[in-house]
Amino acid sequence: MFRNLVIWLTLRHASQDMLLAQFKELRRQIPMLYALLSVNALAVAYTHVGYAPNWMTIYVPGALISVSLYRMFAWWFSAEYRNADAERAKILLQRTILLADALAAAFVSWALMLNSYGDAYEHAHVAIFIAITVIGCIFCLMKLPQAALSVTVIVTVPYLLYYGVGQNTVFVAIALNILLVTLVMVRILMNSFRSFTQLILSRSETERLGRENLRLAHTDALTGLPNRRYFFLELSERLEAARLKGSPLAIGILDLDRFKPVNDTFGHVVGDRLLEQVGQRLGALSGADVVLSRLGGDEFGFFVELSEKDARALGQSFCDSLSEPFQINGLTIAIGGSCGVAVFPDGGSTPHELFDHADYALYDSKSAGRGTTTLYSAAHETRIQSDRAIEAALRTAHFETEMEVHLQPIVRGPDARVIGVEALARWTHPVLGNVRPDLFIVIAERAGLIHDLTLVLLRKALSALEKLPATLDLSFNLSAHNVTSPRTALAIVALVRNAPIDPARLTLELTETAVMRDFEVARRSIQMFRAMGARVALDDFGTGYSSLSHLHRLPIDRIKIDRSFVRDCANPTGFSILASILALCASMNLECVVEGVEDAEQLAVLNTLGCDCFQGYLFAKPMPPQALTAWLAERPALDAVATPPARRLG
Ligand code: C2E
Ligand code: CA
Ligand code: CA
Repeated sequence: MFRNLVIWLTLRHASQDMLLAQFKELRRQIPMLYALLSVNALAVAYTHVGYAPNWMTIYVPGALISVSLYRMFAWWFSAEYRNADAERAKILLQRTILLADALAAAFVSWALMLNSYGDAYEHAHVAIFIAITVIGCIFCLMKLPQAALSVTVIVTVPYLLYYGVGQNTVFVAIALNILLVTLVMVRILMNSFRSFTQLILSRSETERLGRENLRLAHTDALTGLPNRRYFFLELSERLEAARLKGSPLAIGILDLDRFKPVNDTFGHVVGDRLLEQVGQRLGALSGADVVLSRLGGDEFGFFVELSEKDARALGQSFCDSLSEPFQINGLTIAIGGSCGVAVFPDGGSTPHELFDHADYALYDSKSAGRGTTTLYSAAHETRIQSDRAIEAALRTAHFETEMEVHLQPIVRGPDARVIGVEALARWTHPVLGNVRPDLFIVIAERAGLIHDLTLVLLRKALSALEKLPATLDLSFNLSAHNVTSPRTALAIVALVRNAPIDPARLTLELTETAVMRDFEVARRSIQMFRAMGARVALDDFGTGYSSLSHLHRLPIDRIKIDRSFVRDCANPTGFSILASILALCASMNLECVVEGVEDAEQLAVLNTLGCDCFQGYLFAKPMPPQALTAWLAERPALDAVATPPARRLG
């Protein structure tokens, strides 16, 4: 019990929050306490001048009042008190308790000694001095009950003894009265302090919960990494800091390659485990200065104070680590990651600009073969500007008059007989001139204009087909968005049904990327096109990433081998890749068109591989529909160009 009392009196187990709260309250009250003491002591000393010796009415009170005033100013003005943290507050409070006790002892001794001088009035003044001062002390020390209680004991015990042994019943009555009042005061003090303690405890609990909530709100539950919200909040602050310091700040976005097929094939549980492991790998690679977040889905972000070169190296080390296979539930899963990086100040100046630019660079990494890191550069900036100009022009373009289709023949066999044409979009803008279709199609998709554009182009392509010999087919390109939008798919079906041509003459070309965007919707669209009687071709075959696995799962009629394979067909690697693709098509009984055949040598190699369907500049470039009619009419004369090598090899 005594030990507990000592522990309590010396504040040994007091919590930090509590100490700080007490200290704050006391800073407002203790100076008043010292002022009160000084004024009261001055009054008593004054009434005893002439009765008591000078040292008791001038020097002792002078010293006591000086100490009190010194302490008052210390509490009020000292920087040590103003800026105290919990540790410091504890020391200052302990010191206050000791000093309060010492001063209480000094004041009460002095007052009781003064009581030997003067007459009844002066005696009464001393009694009142002690009584009101002790009550004042209890009041002002309300938030430090250790000091209040010890001061009360130090003052009231000698006071009671002094008056109790005296003969004057008035003073005995006053003493008892004071005792009663101080007891009640102490009780009130303890009650009030208890509520104060509870208030502080609940306040710090609320603050703790608030901090915990904030932490949770800023954490991604799956990977335990900071989330998107935290990423952007923190990015703004770091960017400001970098701006002030004049240092670079690199922002990177990492996107997993092939995550969606893994999720689709093995299910969400495996997908989630995979994301967790990705988070761990990336976390292990990032130093303490890197802020790494999961931005959502299979996208991760990071920022760090690094130069362009180092940031790119970091991004690449992330990509490299993701290309190592993952082991999940006994499965070996190979994915990969692509990264885009933008560095402040050259790569952008606001969080969103930097983020967009990193995203733009990421898009480049994705289309340039994946697994790489691209740094946002001046070239990207120029491209963004021109994309913007194209987008603006496209928004106000009159599709009906500005858009056309050109037709490029597709030929088959040793005599390069024309079996059909591919419709290719051509846009002539009054100011921008001819804009490349691979540019404006993507921009039209982004701008939400592709639905209308596709329908205009398809209508024009179908009406061109009407004027061609009935033996020729038409191939028409669909964009990724067309394939994954049920609305567009339905509109295409309606348009074809209403056209005066046999749907069997139409082949719709779509790319793997389009299919991958939303496999199920894409498959439904494909089924719908085939149910109408049209055929479906997989375009740019070989440039996607999971070509082979998807071939099995899609009801397609034809594949078009990308021209990059033709370009490389003369070297041994290119040759063997092409050979294996062709073998695959043969085994699946798929018709196969080789695109981009430009010269006789390529054709010769392709012939040895057994290809017989081609498209390319060697035969004809895309041309306006009327030009095609003329070209077809002159066809026998041109046969000479294509046939000799074919015959030679045939
Ligand atoms: P694609 O579907 O792969 O079309 C073939 C592209 O290769 C065409 O480019 C064609 O002009 C070009 N080409 C044909 N033979 C050769 C050759 O021997 N050598 C070389 N170097 N190129 C050859 P184009 O017309 O510039 O179209 C580019 C891409 O734009 C198309 O690639 C297609 O993805 C897209 N596109 C064109 N028209 C449309 C359209 O109406 N709708 C959609 N969604 N996309 C279209
Ligand atoms: Ca095509
Ligand atoms: Ca193609």
